[in-house]
Amino acid sequence: MTDINWTKALCLGCDRELWFVEGTDSTSNADRRAAKQTCLICPIRSGCLDSAMAEENGRGESGRYGIRGGLSGKQRYALARRRPGAQPKQQRAA
Ligand code: SF4
Repeated sequence: MTDINWTKALCLGCDRELWFVEGTDSTSNADRRAAKQTCLICPIRSGCLDSAMAEENGRGESGRYGIRGGLSGKQRYALARRRPGAQPKQQRAA
């Protein structure tokens, strides 16, 4: 992985809580969208996402926190499952 210049992160100096919003009410959803829109124009988005994917490798959806690289934990989990060599989804016991 190439070095990432984290000093260029657009979330630096922002209210970090926006990237870790919980809840599904309209305010929470608006905050989450605002964070994702910031990520969309962040110059290190690709590296940020790669870093999150590497760090979270092997984790389930519940082990991925916050918005990173413009994706929620749920979206990063879905991305991980689509990548070559991904582990099949674990079956639930009946
Ligand atoms: S992509 Fe988003 S979470 Fe990652 S550094 Fe940029 S603004 Fe922050």
